Amino acid sequence: MKKRFEFKCWKCERTYTLFREITDEQELIVACPYCNAEGVVDLGTYPRRKIQVFRNLSVLSQDDDLTLGTEPELPDILPTQKPE
Ligand SMILES: [Zn+2]
Repeated sequence: MKKRFEFKCWKCERTYTLFREITDEQELIVACPYCNAEGVVDLGTYPRRKIQVFRNLSVLSQDDDLTLGTEPELPDILPTQKPE
């Protein structure tokens, strides 16, 4: 699922928004639209919160249809870092 995120450029310090898909990968690579600098967002540094995922909505038994997943708990503006 794609979400809209706000990033802060490490180089020119302007903020910009992009649609990105959050996967299990720990890093997002973004490019600043103002100065073209590539930035890295390390999602592994953020705490993860548990989310409930419904696996099978047609079978509503008490235990079987719930799995617990996690997603990173992200701030409103994600700081980017200079790629190494
Ligand atoms: Zn920039």
